[in-house]
Amino acid sequence: MPDGLLQPAPDGAVATPTAAVELRGVSKRFRNGTTAVSDVDLSIAHGDFVSLLGPSGCGKSTLLRMMAGLSQPSSGRIAASGGAEGISFVFQEPTLMPWRSALRNVMLPLRLSHMAKSEAEARAAEALAQVGLAGFENSYPRALSGGMKMRVSIARALVTKPRLLLMDEPFAALDEITRFKLNNDLLTLWEAERFTAIFVTHSVFESVYLSRRVVVMAARPGRIAADLAVDEPYPRGEEFRTSATYAAHCREISHALSGAMGGEAHA
Ligand code: ADP
Ligand code: MG
Repeated sequence: MPDGLLQPAPDGAVATPTAAVELRGVSKRFRNGTTAVSDVDLSIAHGDFVSLLGPSGCGKSTLLRMMAGLSQPSSGRIAASGGAEGISFVFQEPTLMPWRSALRNVMLPLRLSHMAKSEAEARAAEALAQVGLAGFENSYPRALSGGMKMRVSIARALVTKPRLLLMDEPFAALDEITRFKLNNDLLTLWEAERFTAIFVTHSVFESVYLSRRVVVMAARPGRIAADLAVDEPYPRGEEFRTSATYAAHCREISHALSGAMGGEAHA
């Protein structure tokens, strides 16, 4: 895309009509001298499902936080179409407020934007139902399993109807069976709502199962090492997970990851 399409906005951000998120020459150097991200160019299409895959420390979280506007690049430009308003973030920890019920946790972003209580309640209940938690509105986080807490966290992210959903290793702490269920439910939500999804993971298998595109990152400094398409139809289910095509994509992406890690064995 020609440079001219990126229009600087007053706050230093840039806006582009064609991509959901656009990064140009983005670097992040922390005050202690660590270069976490170096010269990243990346354009993510509206409605896409993209995974950022790489070993721990390669700058995935730093990159995602900059896309969310939670941190500023040291150099380069980032544009999220529509601005910060339509962005939701899901962290690895569900970060629920222990003194609020599931419903009141999910209502929080709506109440913070001054939506009337009754409407916020109705929308939060709907979001909880969407993640399979109808009937758990009045449960407190301590009474919920890890998977259910993550579902509440996803409901809280989706209740604002974001255009862009950024997820930072949201399922890394869950057991495999729960993770598979949440992978399926996330894809169902994505197909229904068609937000743009950017999903950080260090699992090759998870990245291939979920995404249409896998961006492989390398460390020291964090950068993009490979960018691969997983051009397979949705809905994806157990049939895809056990198919030869899935295995072939996993092999290809594992190979790219090993290359990115310079032959280091990866965990
Ligand atoms: P990942 O999410 O891929 O594990 P991070 O983005 O968390 O990687 O970190 C990338 C690099 O930047 C690491 O070397 C990490 O130690 C460093 N880093 C992250 N946050 C900070 C910070 N606030 N200050 C200094 N260094 C940081
Ligand atoms: Mg991280």
